[in-house]
This record gives sequence, structure tokens and C-alpha cells, in this order.
Amino acid sequence: MTQAASVVSAKDLCLTYQADDAPVHALSNVNLDVRKGDFVSFIGPSGCGKTTFLRVIADLERKTSGDITVNGMTPEEARKARAYGYVFQAPALYPWRTIEKNIALPLEIMSYPSADRKKRIAAALELVNLSGFEKKFPWQLSGGMQQRASIARALAFDADLLLMDEPFGALDEIVRDHLNEELLKLWARTDKTICFVTHSIPEAVYLSTKIVVMSPRPGRVTDIIDSTLPKERPLGIRETPEFLEIAHRVREGLRAGHSYEH
Ligand code: ADP
Ligand code: MG
Repeated sequence: MTQAASVVSAKDLCLTYQADDAPVHALSNVNLDVRKGDFVSFIGPSGCGKTTFLRVIADLERKTSGDITVNGMTPEEARKARAYGYVFQAPALYPWRTIEKNIALPLEIMSYPSADRKKRIAAALELVNLSGFEKKFPWQLSGGMQQRASIARALAFDADLLLMDEPFGALDEIVRDHLNEELLKLWARTDKTICFVTHSIPEAVYLSTKIVVMSPRPGRVTDIIDSTLPKERPLGIRETPEFLEIAHRVREGLRAGHSYEH
């Protein structure tokens, strides 16, 4: 079998923020290969560089040293080629635009024809259970609904690579379960590549083909786990021994990273 194409490739990637008092080593020698069709979760305590890593992929931060490519290009080239959709940790919707018009914005910028825009917006809203909220303004929606709208915005765009920074962190568990299932279906159907940041071990294990365990000060990768779970995953899979075994390994990785601290 030929290996799938590399979507994100990091080699000895380092990023140091120059803060006023002391430099912050947000990423230290990160080596990682994300292949087309992978669902990769990044998990680790606050401050271990998860957001920074996504921001480097998206060309919102520049590496200090090492190498990173996105679809074989530099992050800047990939950004210009609109290689990814980004779901931020906070919804980041424009308050003066309706939900529909917020989702339309990137599509307008990319000059999608109006009829196509409408279709994409409707499909994306249905996917996140927000059909009927097209004409509402963000401030008329709950925080969870706003986050779903921002997910719809990244989905409508239909990029092959989705970067998602704790997109479901603010949602209650029932809604989160539903969106996890929907996201998996979408991923299976579309062959998208997803880089997903989470704090939740069950969420990481349920969703991923690959789990990247990180630890802080300096931010680094401490374990990379290739999931043995099948692609088809009913929610009940979370009760199986195989699932619990992977969850156990993630927890061990997080604990090992923690013991670095003095
Ligand atoms: P995570 O998303 O895993 O919580 P971040 O990538 O946001 O972690 O941050 C990694 C480290 O870099 C943290 O110590 C954080 O305080 C620091 N950091 C993030 N952004 C900046 C910045 N713009 N300037 C200085 N330090 C930063
Ligand atoms: Mg973060």
C-alpha cells in the first residue's frame, strides 16, 4: 500500500516567544507527520503549545527554527492557497452580521457564486443543528450555538484540512457527543484531514486515528499514539476494552509529561 500524502510535516520545529521578562519555549523540537485523511488530536495541559502549533500551520505564527510544510508548501504558501479551515477556541463571529452572513463571508471572499453559497450555508448549518437560525445575529445565540456557527463557517468553506482548537470545549456533553459523531461522519465521508485540539481524553480517543500527547515548559510532544479503533465508531465504542486501553495510554502519557515539572 502506498502511504497517503503528507499534509503537515514538522521536523525539529521550535517556536520561542520573546516575552518581556524571559523567552517562552512554546514548541521544542516537534516532529510530526500528519497524512491525508488522518484525524489527529492534540492533548495536553494548558500552555503546552497546542494552539501555537495550529497557529504555525495556519501561518499565524512563525517558527523559530526547524521545518514545517503544509501540503508540501510553506505555511504562507498554504495560507495563500487557502488550504485549511480554522475553528478558533472562541467563536469569533462578526456581531453585525447574521449567522448566514458570517458563514458567507469566506465564501464571498473566495468568489463562490451566490446559489452555491446558499447551498453550502444550508448544508453546513444542518450539520451543526442550526437550521432555522440563518437570520439571527450571534448575540441572539447561546455560546454553544455560536461555536457551532463558527464550525459551520469552517465547514462551508470545504478545505481539505480543518484546524480545530477546542471547538467543543464550551459545550455540554450531550451536544458534544452529537457533534463528535457528526464530525466523524463528515470526516469519513469527505476524506478531510483534521487537526483537533482537546482537553478531553475520551473525545481524543473517540475521534482520532492519531493522538499527540504534549507537555509544557518547554512545549513538546511526549507520545504519539496510532489508534487501533476501526473507522466506523458508534458512541458505544467508548465502553470497549480497546478504547479504554488507548485512553489509559493517553493518561499515562499526560502523567509522564507532568512529572517533568519541579
Ligand atoms: P495551549 O494552547 O496548549 O494552552 P499555547 O500554544 O496557547 O498553549 O501557549 C504555549 C505557551 O506559550 C504558553 O506558556 C503561553 O503562555 C505562551 N504564549 C502563547 N502565545 C504567546 C505570545 N503571543 N507571547 C508570549 N507567550 C505566548
Ligand atoms: Mg490553546
